Amino acid sequence: MRTDRTFTMLKPDSVEKGHIGAILEKITASGFRIVAMKLTQMTTADAQEFYAIHNERPFFGELVEYMTRGPIVAAILEKNNAVEDFRTLIGATNPADAAEGTIRKLYAASIGENAVHGSDSDENAAIEGAFHFSGREMF
Ligand code: UDP
Ligand code: MG
Repeated sequence: MRTDRTFTMLKPDSVEKGHIGAILEKITASGFRIVAMKLTQMTTADAQEFYAIHNERPFFGELVEYMTRGPIVAAILEKNNAVEDFRTLIGATNPADAAEGTIRKLYAASIGENAVHGSDSDENAAIEGAFHFSGREMF
C-alpha cells in the first residue's frame, strides 16, 4: 500500500464561495503535487456510496444533500506521508476545533459544511481516488 497519496474534495460550499483558487494555492504551497483533478458533481447514489460508512449517522441525509447540491473539485494529491499531513493541513472536522491557519479554520462554516474532504487512511485514499478517477486521469 503506497503512503504518498491522498484524495481530497473541495466541497460544494468552497466552490460556491469562490474559494477554489485560494484552497488549491494552500495545498500546493504545502508541498502536495496534484496527480489528478476535476470539477464534477456527485449524484445522490454517488454520495451515498462514497459516505456509506456514515449511513447510520443522524447527519447522513444532510451530508448527502450538501455533497450533491453543486459541483466539487475532486483531486488526488502526492507527498510523503500524504494522508496524515493533509489531515493536519485541513484541520479538525468541526472548524470551531480546527487549528489556526488550517483550511477548515479559514474556509469552513460549520461541522457539516466544512469546505474540504481528506482521506483518513492509505487504504481509503486508494479507494476514494479510484472512485473518482480512472488510471488514464492520473499523472
Ligand atoms: N459531518 C456532519 N456532522 C457531524 C460529523 C460529520 O455533517 O457531526 C459531515 C462533515 O461534512 C464531515 C463528513 O460528515 O466532513 C464526514 O465525517 P467524518 O467524521 O468522516 O469527518 P472528516 O473525516 O471529514 O473530518
Ligand atoms: Mg472522514
